[in-house]
Amino acid sequence: MAARHTSVEDRYVIRDRNRSLVFGAIITKGPISRSEIAEVTGLSHGTVTKAVAPMVEAGYVTDEAPDEPRDAAESVKGRPRVPLRVRPERRCVVGVKTTGHEVIGVVANLAGTVVVSKRVRLVSAEVADVVRAIGRLVKQLVGSEAGLRECTHDLGVVLGGHVDADRRLVHTSLELGWREVPLARLLTAETGLRTVVENNVNALAVAEQWFGAGVDVPWFVVVTLGAGVGSALVLDGQLMGGVRGGAGELGHAVVEPGGRICRCGNRGCLETVAADPAILASIVEAGGPDLDDIRAAANLARSGDLAATAAFTRAGTALGTQIATLANIVNPQRIILSGEGVVSSDLLMTSLREAFAAHVLLPADHYELLTHPLPDEAWARGAAMVTLQDIFVGSA
Ligand SMILES: [Zn+2]
Repeated sequence: MAARHTSVEDRYVIRDRNRSLVFGAIITKGPISRSEIAEVTGLSHGTVTKAVAPMVEAGYVTDEAPDEPRDAAESVKGRPRVPLRVRPERRCVVGVKTTGHEVIGVVANLAGTVVVSKRVRLVSAEVADVVRAIGRLVKQLVGSEAGLRECTHDLGVVLGGHVDADRRLVHTSLELGWREVPLARLLTAETGLRTVVENNVNALAVAEQWFGAGVDVPWFVVVTLGAGVGSALVLDGQLMGGVRGGAGELGHAVVEPGGRICRCGNRGCLETVAADPAILASIVEAGGPDLDDIRAAANLARSGDLAATAAFTRAGTALGTQIATLANIVNPQRIILSGEGVVSSDLLMTSLREAFAAHVLLPADHYELLTHPLPDEAWARGAAMVTLQDIFVGSA
C-alpha cells in the first residue's frame, strides 16, 4: 500500500517538475524550439511536446510567427512552426512582499517583466490590517496603467514564515506573529484575485532561478541576511520547500548553545549572532554605542571601531560555519548570499570565507560563493514569478 501511494505521488512530482522545467526554459530562453528545450532540460522530445501543449492551448505560449492568426490546431496541421515564446501581454500577475511595516508590490507580465511597482505602509502587522493594505496596494497597482486591470487575475504574496505546500495557508510567521492564517482565501475575498502565498526566500530563489544568479545552475542555495537569516534550496532544478514549508531554516541552527534568546524561543540560534539586531547587540555588549541601524554599524566598523569589527567578524564566522554545514549536506554548485544584510558583506566575507573553508568537506573552491544584493522590488518580483509558476505548474 505504501509503495502504491509513493508511485502515485512520484507521477505527480515528475509531471510538475517537467512542466516547471519546460516553462522555465521558454520564459528564460525563448524564442526556443522544442528540440532545444529537450536539450537544455534533458527531457525527451515527446515529454517536452506534451508539457508545451496545454500552455499553447491556453494562449500563454505560441509557436506561430507574430503576424499569423492564433489558432493552435490549424498551425499544427499546416503552418510551419517557429520557436516557442511566451505572449507577455496574455496575462499579468501582481507580486507583493510583506514585511512587518510595509507591503511592496509589482505587476509583472508573462515574460516576467515588471510593468509598475508601488509600496504602502502598514498600520500594524495584524492580519486584517495587512489584508486591507495589500487590497489597497493591488488597487493602486492595477489602476496605474490602462489595460492592467483587465489582464490581471492572479496575486502572489511572500512573507517570512512557513507556508503550506499548496501555497495557500501561512502555518507560522515569526516576523508577523501569525499562526495558521488562511491568507490566500482572505486576499481572494479582498481583491477578487486568485492568490498564492510563499515564503519570501523561496520566492527569491525562484526569481534567481529564472532571471538571476541561478539561471542554468540546477543545484544552488540562496542565503539571505538582514533582519533574520534565511535560506532556500534549489536541488536538481526543483525548489525544496519541505512538507510544511519548513525547509531551509538555516537561521535557527544552534551555533552557541545557551546563548542569546532567539525570536523562535530557543537559545543560541544563528540569527542571535548573525542577524542585524544581533550584530547591533554584540556592539553594545562589547562597550560600543547603542545603534538602531545596521548601516551605521557597518560605517562604524569601516572606520576601524574594534567592537563593531568584532561583531561583524563573529557574525561572519557563524554564517560561514553553518553555510559549510549546509554545503556538506546538499552539495550545491553555487551559494548566493542575498538580502538587505548584504550591504555589509565587505565586513563579513573574510571571516565567513575562512570559516566556510575550515568546515566544508570538499575543497572550498569547488563551491561558487557569491553575493547578490537585491532591492525590495526583487522580492516582489519573486512573488510574481511564484505566481506564474503556480499558473503553469500547479493548475495547467
Ligand atoms: Zn531561533
